[in-house]
Amino acid sequence: MKCLKKYLFGLLWLTIVVTAAPPSKSDYDYENSSEEDKKPSCDDTNCQLPNCSCFGNQPKLAVMYRPQFVMLTFDDAITVANIETYRTIAKRGTERKPVRMTFFVCHEYNDYTLAHELYSEGHEIAVHSISHESSTELWRKATDDRWKKEMVGMRVMLDTFAGIPKKEVVGHRAPFLQTAGNTTFQVLQREGFLYDSSMPTRNNMDPPVWPYTLDHGYAQDCQIEPCPEGNFQGLWLVPMIQYLRRSQKPTEEDFYCSMVDACTPQPTTAKDTKEYLMENFLRHYRSNRAPFPVFLHEAWLKEEERLQGYLDFLDEILKMEGVYTATIRDVIEYMRAPEPKKHHPQFIAREQQPSKLTCEKKEVCSYKQPLRIMKSCTPCSKYYPWVGTPLGKRSPIDFPNME
Ligand SMILES: [Zn+2]
Repeated sequence: MKCLKKYLFGLLWLTIVVTAAPPSKSDYDYENSSEEDKKPSCDDTNCQLPNCSCFGNQPKLAVMYRPQFVMLTFDDAITVANIETYRTIAKRGTERKPVRMTFFVCHEYNDYTLAHELYSEGHEIAVHSISHESSTELWRKATDDRWKKEMVGMRVMLDTFAGIPKKEVVGHRAPFLQTAGNTTFQVLQREGFLYDSSMPTRNNMDPPVWPYTLDHGYAQDCQIEPCPEGNFQGLWLVPMIQYLRRSQKPTEEDFYCSMVDACTPQPTTAKDTKEYLMENFLRHYRSNRAPFPVFLHEAWLKEEERLQGYLDFLDEILKMEGVYTATIRDVIEYMRAPEPKKHHPQFIAREQQPSKLTCEKKEVCSYKQPLRIMKSCTPCSKYYPWVGTPLGKRSPIDFPNME
């Protein structure tokens, strides 16, 4: 399957990109910079909630009153091959602590009836491009127009074929975590997205950093260039705080990765999987309680032992005081107005707008050029929906990179 290949490629690629860039000379050299070049520092006088939060800020509450959020996310298409895993994970929730996940969805092979199902059960659906083209170079150099067509187009498709209201699709993750720097962030801000979660950080693992807004610019280490340089008012950045994977042999070094499944050596037993997740989780829970990311591709859980370890981890943390799974959007909603009484000890997720469709009639749409099958909650479009033609009104073969 194409999407699986892309995933494997991404995994390989991500394992390579893990070294922090050393600070360049210009980071220290202020001699030539004019007064205008100096950014005002971010503080309470020029940045206030709910729409602005400085890098390094934490909720103004004692740690014991902060919920420990765990953000379970999965990337790529939602299909019959992975939905059972998501249903299994969701069942681990309780009435007091339901399991809520975030899905960064791409279009190729996506089953919109299943996206509808997950959304209707309270999970968040966010965008991860239409094409998920396998060239990182393409994403790095993408124009404003291309980024818009990929991400806004994906939002249109989710709205049209799965009935998920556009206003509820506010999150973004770049394919292979490769953004086009300012171009990407300009599009996100202009097109009304609430947050990005594509930017890894190694320097802010311990203590872990809380999400922040880009009103005063990007403030993390730049792990994958280009990183944004401008200021983007009101746009949240949910850092991909890296994971530490301890070496298993004295001769090996510890490993760091931006997604749980990119660290080696890969755990193979349930016990090892659980311990790997737990060690990283405790770094958050025992310090400032910055939201803990569990950013993953479902393929990693195809190994039975690993899935068991993941579920064991989930069961254990949900028994802990103040620990909740939450969609990324809910984490940001909490940060905008942190109120201990309202949210603690029982965190209450915000109400989503209901889906625009019941999806009672599931359509199986087959297309010849290209050869594709697409499941939709609405009647089939004439052509296969694609970049530049998200409603499938024109033939996709005239559009970029479609065979
Ligand atoms: Zn992906």
